[in-house]
Amino acid sequence: KSGFVSIVGRPNVGKSTLLNTIIGEKIAIVSEKPQTTRTRIQGIYTCERGQVIFVDTPGIHKPKHLLGEYMVKVSARSLEEVDIIYYMTDVTRPFGGGESFILEQLKDARVPVFLLVNKIDLVSEQEVKDYIQIFNQQRSFSEVVSISAACGTNLQLLIDKTLDAL
Ligand code: GDP
Ligand code: MG
Repeated sequence: KSGFVSIVGRPNVGKSTLLNTIIGEKIAIVSEKPQTTRTRIQGIYTCERGQVIFVDTPGIHKPKHLLGEYMVKVSARSLEEVDIIYYMTDVTRPFGGGESFILEQLKDARVPVFLLVNKIDLVSEQEVKDYIQIFNQQRSFSEVVSISAACGTNLQLLIDKTLDAL
């Protein structure tokens, strides 16, 4: 089994930390070469069950200029080229316009969208539950995984669910 995963989310939710933790544990093959004009391989996780190839989809952010709007359309298209989308959020930051914007971008996604609730090391279990409830009211997710990218919490579970879905 193998497939492409893209991690989207607002700045500072922990996307780079997640990649570093996942790829750092296993053999990392990081290429700076563009895979296509729109996506770039960030790292490949390899285990007995298969491979998860992480690619970035630039431009999923709230546009400030026309060029930004164009970039968002481009990245919405590049999301169709992956097998799974990780939509990552920060449990310590309240739901707001930034999340609504990304949810709008993901509205027409035809691939599984996993909600990753990150930084659970900073809050109580109840706070995690309440936070997830808010997102579940917005749309349905193929999987919801609460994680700590920094501590490694539930990352094996995430990989298992990812390989299940590929
Ligand atoms: P990105 O902009 O989405 O790539 O976010 P980064 O990976 O750069 O992380 C932003 C900040 O959040 C950094 O200071 C990280 O150390 C911190 N961070 C990321 N994941 C976690 C986590 O699971 N727990 C805590 N406490 N901090 C985290
Ligand atoms: Mg980053």
